[in-house]
Amino acid sequence: MTFEFEPKHLIKLSKNNINIKGKILEIQRMSTEDGPGIRTSVFMKGCGLSCTWCHNPESISFKPELQWLKPNCISCKICINTCSYNGLSLTENGMQINRDNCIACGECAEECPSAALEILGQDTGVDELVEEVLKDRSYFEKSNGGVTVSGGEPALQTDFTFELLKKLKGKGIHTAIDTCGFSSKESYKKILQYTDLVLFDIKLIDPGKHTEFTGKSNKLILENLLYVSEYVKNSNKKLWVRTPIIPDATATDENITGIGKFIAANSIQATKWELCAFNNLCNDKYERLGKIWDFENYKLLEPSVMEHLLALAKKSGVNPEIIESTGSLKAEKQYKTDKSNEPAPVDYCKITGLLD
Ligand code: SF4
Ligand code: SF4
Repeated sequence: MTFEFEPKHLIKLSKNNINIKGKILEIQRMSTEDGPGIRTSVFMKGCGLSCTWCHNPESISFKPELQWLKPNCISCKICINTCSYNGLSLTENGMQINRDNCIACGECAEECPSAALEILGQDTGVDELVEEVLKDRSYFEKSNGGVTVSGGEPALQTDFTFELLKKLKGKGIHTAIDTCGFSSKESYKKILQYTDLVLFDIKLIDPGKHTEFTGKSNKLILENLLYVSEYVKNSNKKLWVRTPIIPDATATDENITGIGKFIAANSIQATKWELCAFNNLCNDKYERLGKIWDFENYKLLEPSVMEHLLALAKKSGVNPEIIESTGSLKAEKQYKTDKSNEPAPVDYCKITGLLD
């Protein structure tokens, strides 16, 4: 299989991996949504796609970014006087970050007396990251969990992700990557050596719609899914396909049926196809970055929408037993009264089976 193009942001594979640094956004502990058991998720910064519904807008750019935390700000303007680049101004709409001027040096954040400014994205070494995530080892052992490298797109930081996964496997930790599929085949070939589980997103089956909503065609992504499927077929690794269910974007009959037909026709070796319900909890993230989210006024999905799409998926030719839906929906009572848009509470013990 050959690629017609390479992802623009691919960080080239290198031979010398000593002291390699990864662009890390954050570490999230006690995650139960990114693989089996209790997991620690490492979010990497930088992605080749720019999905209009992205739930992690701070992970799209590879560059460090400054964010403003409105509730903490006391309007003292120390930050504005600190900045030598004319990067900030305080208006009646709050702090404005001039992205053309700001070089994300972090000086304003250091001087802010109330922790209202923060730089997102840090260069981090493999050893220090491994040391950090291993603090959660006892949770992994009790729940059959592990570490998931997510993003952004971990496959685009190939060498770092490879070294991280290799070291974790050396410590006996279950490893997973959460990928949008937009990287080179060579990057997957390298990373999969030390990956136990691949969470692979297929968002839209129509190439035109994929380009419209993510900025890129899905050609390379589908080719990579075929490659990953073939890889896991000949190993003891696992593959889960995940489809975000986004209103007015991916949540259509044609899309879900089309993805199902692709999985079935190509005998994709997935042991799970997860339909992940849209959530609207990331409005704050856009606000902190001074961005407007196309989906800011969208509510959680109604249960009937997910039930309908789930039924279609189960009729698409994919083994119905591997298909499930996840995520928060409008609770029945909320659905009827429409007074609240809060997600239903999560029963972590039920999810992890810790009390079984
Ligand atoms: S991060 Fe640096 S350049 Fe950006 S606003 Fe703050 S002080 Fe100015
Ligand atoms: S220094 Fe901090 S608290 Fe003061 S105006 Fe700037 S962001 Fe707000």
